[in-house]
Amino acid sequence: VDLAEIAARTPGFAGADLANIVNEAALLAARKGRDTVEDQDFSEAIDRVVAGLEKKSRILSGLEKERVAYHESGHAIVGEVLAPSERVTKISIIPRGVAALGYTMQLPTEDRYLLTESELHGKLAALLGGRAAEEVVFGELSTGAANDLSRATEIARAMVVDYGMSRKIGPVSMAKERRPSFLPGDYGGGREVGDRTADEIDDEIKSLVERAAERARETLTKNRAVLEALAKGLIESEHLEGAELRKILDGVRVAGIKDPYRELEETAAK
Ligand code: ZN
Repeated sequence: VDLAEIAARTPGFAGADLANIVNEAALLAARKGRDTVEDQDFSEAIDRVVAGLEKKSRILSGLEKERVAYHESGHAIVGEVLAPSERVTKISIIPRGVAALGYTMQLPTEDRYLLTESELHGKLAALLGGRAAEEVVFGELSTGAANDLSRATEIARAMVVDYGMSRKIGPVSMAKERRPSFLPGDYGGGREVGDRTADEIDDEIKSLVERAAERARETLTKNRAVLEALAKGLIESEHLEGAELRKILDGVRVAGIKDPYRELEETAAK
């Protein structure tokens, strides 16, 4: 077992997660009647801890499988291009956990404690990459992107109200925004936000998400060949990782895609 490789696949994991992975891997090896733990056991154990158990009973129809393959490939490509501080290590279209029909594992290349504004824009776009792929390839959306959308909205909201990253709202924390105070004499400890500001906040969140979605679509249109290759590989083998995945992803075109952070700076400078 290559410990360095396991470490590379688990940055940011807490000690308890690692202990969990080792336990799972040992159980998997024992279940297969082996008395040593192998790389494949660790690989499956990491997937289990990150994404939950494989749901073999949840069988996707051919068309659904195709859609999930494109959806996950979209996450992977947009992540690779626009969120390069994290690396796509695995893509799978085997249903796992409570709701996931597929998943793309994108891990930071090192432990991170701070994220920059452009990294957050990249994360947003990567989250919307699945949805964008469905739009680009099938011309319409499916219900599969609901969770992505809610996570993207959460990030965009945090950018506006917690991190002061909206040029329109300004560098003010609105974190206590609209916190209701039911108790007499309790003002909620936060500022009162008027309806107008609340509307502005919503507009800003919407525009951040819309812009990220547009970048995701643009990235996928420019990398259509890689999108096709990835989706095809996934439909064939249900998951891609390691050198096989790298070979396809290394074909992405990064140049010429708008950087929203630079754009913001440029508009602000005008
Ligand atoms: Zn998704």
